[in-house]
Amino acid sequence: GPVPAGDPLTGLLDRVRADLRDLDDGEPASYIPELGRADPTLFGLSLCTLDGQVYGSGDTAVPFTAQSVSKPFVFALALADQGVEDVLARVGAEPSGEAFNSIRLEPGTGRPPNPMVNAGAIVTSSLVAGTTPDERFARILDGLGAFAGRPLAVDEAVYASERATGDRNRALAYLMHNAGSLTGDVEEQLAVYFRQCSVLVTCDDLAVMHATLAGGGVNPVTGERVVAPRHAQHVLAVMATCGMYDASGQWMLRVGMPAKSGVSGAIGVALPGQFGIGVFSPPLEEKGNSVRGIAACHLLSDQFGLHLMRAT
Ligand code: GLN
Repeated sequence: GPVPAGDPLTGLLDRVRADLRDLDDGEPASYIPELGRADPTLFGLSLCTLDGQVYGSGDTAVPFTAQSVSKPFVFALALADQGVEDVLARVGAEPSGEAFNSIRLEPGTGRPPNPMVNAGAIVTSSLVAGTTPDERFARILDGLGAFAGRPLAVDEAVYASERATGDRNRALAYLMHNAGSLTGDVEEQLAVYFRQCSVLVTCDDLAVMHATLAGGGVNPVTGERVVAPRHAQHVLAVMATCGMYDASGQWMLRVGMPAKSGVSGAIGVALPGQFGIGVFSPPLEEKGNSVRGIAACHLLSDQFGLHLMRAT
């Protein structure tokens, strides 16, 4: 049900946002031209507990494109459809230590390093079940909606913008196709990936989606089992090691929770067995992660002792 006025957890989220009011470093991503139009003052913070209660502060209902925050969930769907062995035969589970758009592939196999970088995500979206690209994307859109607990839609303007300017991803996909690690029609496969990145979500959605992973694959709001517990666990493990790209080690040291960022300014965090968090603030640091999103997660982890490696 609705959160009562004056609720203490909402007050904590309000306080974290207030503490970061003056942090205005960074710029919204502009390499996808349409993302450069984002309002840099938007700032939302949501938390969803495993009993399905959603708490929020600020711009929690403003839609934005999921971008790379879609990647863990599409990885989860690929695991559900193909099983872990077949998926890992096609995409690694090692942090790359490189940027999200890294061009490095495994020598010999052409296998991308992990499903959280663009190259790996292009492969995982090609592994979701479906006999045509349209069927595969329909499964992805339905699956992301099951994680969020409501039907989702695509931002067609962002999709068109990325498709028109996505030459680096196009180059990655053609390299992988040449190496044999990406099969099928490259342009059709890229269209599925670009559409997946352009799915609209809110901060509240991110909290519910990550609470679904934190709860072992059951959406705590709808009660629907979206993926098997084992697959949710695999996804969180890869988020923990690779989710923040070449900032993943620092992130694990400071925040200590599996997370995934996207260039729209989104960060999703899952504390296994506890809750999911969504943060949204468009200005990014140089690695493509939200400046205020990172700071909010640092504060939450420190103030409430959320680090997974904490002994007492
Ligand atoms: N759609 C974006 C891209 O492929 C996703 C990158 C991101 O969010 N880090 O460049």
